[in-house]
Amino acid sequence: MTQVVRTRAELRAALAALPRPLGLVPTMGALHAGHASLIRASRERDAATVVSIFVNPTQFGSPDDLARYPRDEAGDLALCAAEGAALAWLPAPADVYPPGFQTSVQVGPVAAPLEGAARPGHFAGVATVVAILLGLVLPARAYFGRKDAQQLAVVERMTLDLGLPVEIVGCPTVRAADGLPLSSRNVRLAPAERAAAPVVHRALMAALALHARGERSAETLRAAMTATLAGEPLAEPEYVSVADPLTMAELERVEGSALLSLAVRFGAVRLIDNERIG
Ligand code: AMP
Repeated sequence: MTQVVRTRAELRAALAALPRPLGLVPTMGALHAGHASLIRASRERDAATVVSIFVNPTQFGSPDDLARYPRDEAGDLALCAAEGAALAWLPAPADVYPPGFQTSVQVGPVAAPLEGAARPGHFAGVATVVAILLGLVLPARAYFGRKDAQQLAVVERMTLDLGLPVEIVGCPTVRAADGLPLSSRNVRLAPAERAAAPVVHRALMAALALHARGERSAETLRAAMTATLAGEPLAEPEYVSVADPLTMAELERVEGSALLSLAVRFGAVRLIDNERIG
């Protein structure tokens, strides 16, 4: 049985009754097998798992994108119960941001390029809401998907910089059989766009294969990804990146670890994916 709470007071009372250590899985709902894998990772390590389900308005650039974000409360609660989450917390915006709210986390250079450049204010919104969720739940561990690699890097940086007493756990990307990462946004792809979308992962695999054969020029790896994407007329690339996985700065050569990442539009839907080297 997953207990459902909404207000800060309900959350506080429910948390007091849970065994420790606690794990927190922050989500925006429309839960799928990717989210389920984070809950499972917590269930392996923590005595109780809290899933937060909150479509955070401050991390959306446009009111349209926020309004179109899929919502499925009944499905979400069923998934939380099936995965054995102890608590599902579904706050209203006023439960997360109290009246008079005026304090936020300022993020640094790690949040500037890639998703940060494409979505101004996005990572400040993410970091601030994650700080609030961590503060209200006080988990021993919090779980994030590597699918959102820059988000994970921003949260890890914040946790270190602000001395937050929580372990951040990064979890592998869960994919459909054709390589497309599971994402709440995938339901908005038209059938032809869904059929075209696996080109994103094929582009990453092309660059990984080149690297495995000894290619070390980041520009050559970027060119291989761009060329693969060019073979799919429905794919509109936004960025193609080979960056340092800690700082997110673009690399000239890949001598150690690297993050290969892409943002690609298919019609109105923007998809991101990445693979890590080293
Ligand atoms: P979201 O609900 O999209 O904000 O995602 C909540 C958490 O689930 C984030 O840490 C995501 O990185 C993670 N996540 C989303 N999709 C996947 C996936 N396909 N595989 C693994 N983790 C994921």
